[in-house]
Amino acid sequence: MCSKCSPYLDFAKEYCLKHGLRLTEPRAQVLGIVVEAGRPVTAYEALAALGRQVKNPKPPTIYRALEFLQEAGLVHRIESMNAYVVCHGAYEHHNSQFLICDDCGDVQEVDIAQMDVSIDAATKRAGFAPAHWSAEIHGTCKKCQG
Ligand SMILES: [Zn+2]
Ligand SMILES: [Zn+2]
Repeated sequence: MCSKCSPYLDFAKEYCLKHGLRLTEPRAQVLGIVVEAGRPVTAYEALAALGRQVKNPKPPTIYRALEFLQEAGLVHRIESMNAYVVCHGAYEHHNSQFLICDDCGDVQEVDIAQMDVSIDAATKRAGFAPAHWSAEIHGTCKKCQG
């Protein structure tokens, strides 16, 4: 476990405790893998990384762990990349907005406050009960624009 991951995992542990969520060993290991990657990680990559920590991990372990982490809000799924990133918004939200660089694959979590308000208003008007939503804005990051 690197120095970057352990404070993050401590925070996640506390968060789970506070919300009555069980951050089991495999779940914590998978979270550690996503934290350490520092970029979107696919389930397949997470499985390979877990295989370096434990012997022959089973794919369902990864899928269940990622599902738990996603539901807990600790990680977000980037639909268009079929990959997972760590939440940088202290977890207290189920709506996410991402800036995705198509050159280097970097993903930034952003908070466009007006977006929440607009989506709230639009779903209310439609009499629709939203569960979660995700905005994935593709383009070129500052670094890659040179
Ligand atoms: Zn988030
Ligand atoms: Zn980039």
